[in-house]
Amino acid sequence: MQPEKQALLQKLTAHEKLNKAQWMTLLTDVTEDDRAEAAKAARAEALQIFGNKVFIRGIVEFSNYCKNDCLYCGIRRSNANAQRYRLTDDEILECCDEGYAIGYRTFVLQSGEDFTYTASHIAELVRRIKAAHPDCAVTLSLGEREYDELKLMRAAGADRYLLRHETANAAHYGMLHPPQMSFAHRMECLRGLKRLGYQTGAGMMIGAPYQTAEHLAEDMCFLQEFRPEMIGMGPFLPHKDTPFAKEPKGSYELTLYLLSLCRLMLPHVLLPATTALGTIHPQGREQGILAGANVIMPNLSPTAVRKKYMLYDNKICTEDQSSDCRFCLQQRMKSIGYEVAVTRGDYAE
Ligand code: SAH
Repeated sequence: MQPEKQALLQKLTAHEKLNKAQWMTLLTDVTEDDRAEAAKAARAEALQIFGNKVFIRGIVEFSNYCKNDCLYCGIRRSNANAQRYRLTDDEILECCDEGYAIGYRTFVLQSGEDFTYTASHIAELVRRIKAAHPDCAVTLSLGEREYDELKLMRAAGADRYLLRHETANAAHYGMLHPPQMSFAHRMECLRGLKRLGYQTGAGMMIGAPYQTAEHLAEDMCFLQEFRPEMIGMGPFLPHKDTPFAKEPKGSYELTLYLLSLCRLMLPHVLLPATTALGTIHPQGREQGILAGANVIMPNLSPTAVRKKYMLYDNKICTEDQSSDCRFCLQQRMKSIGYEVAVTRGDYAE
């Protein structure tokens, strides 16, 4: 490893902040050796904080209707080939009940930006889930909502909220989203979530179209200052019915490297080895854990709708039942010496 990079990695391991130029150095001309060194340090950090335990979250993709038109996303409004569906509250609760029985203690409710589910509707749903499973955490991932709405859902008991910032560079944001969408509003939403006391998740795709090393350096600077409790980060994968259908996918190796850097930068952060990482490589999730991730988010959606929640092509686990995913993961974690924890897995410093 280059002495300059080595010094920066040491700085990071000592929990010192890096500036943009220093992040640029770490993110330029990355070698296999750089990645191995970062993974080693990140894995040691994660082992020290979480032991060999991996937190699991059951994700219920309850609607693929979306009012937005993100250029990368398979469930964007203008994809007429997407077969749209919505789950009823009872169906969502059934998913949670099934998940509880197989050891999930966090339920993630994710959807497109579907405003037919009003904030008060979601609040009522959260109350029902919490009443049925008081020892569980509820995470929402519904896209951008107004502060008052986020407040209502938080008051109903929602614990966490995932809203990737997607990119910290406003111009790059504009290349990934239609003009109606606003970088400023997304950032405002993220700040609101924190203020309301949600454990907040930000994050970005690695290798999104037009992304440069400088953009990634800006993402790291943003994450370093914002200090989200969770970071969702996976490779960009093209979807055939989007304007980015012909764009190259993101790099598997670079994604693993960034996971390691995130672990070192924010040691306690809840960091999933994402489904996209498992899609780009058959051992992606295992390697993600070995690079410093500590969360896995298997699917809890009914098998009948799984294929319809296609954010990108070839998404894994769309034929499986929830119990298959649960035990497949247990085996996968065991194969690398890790265990699945049956706990809420809250952020803790
Ligand atoms: N609508 C919600 C949640 C669903 S999308 C929201 O806006 O937050 C969840 C995440 O999937 C997005 O934040 C995006 O980073 C990721 N995603 C979407 N399309 C993708 C693609 N083609 N490849 C990889 N990740 C994608």
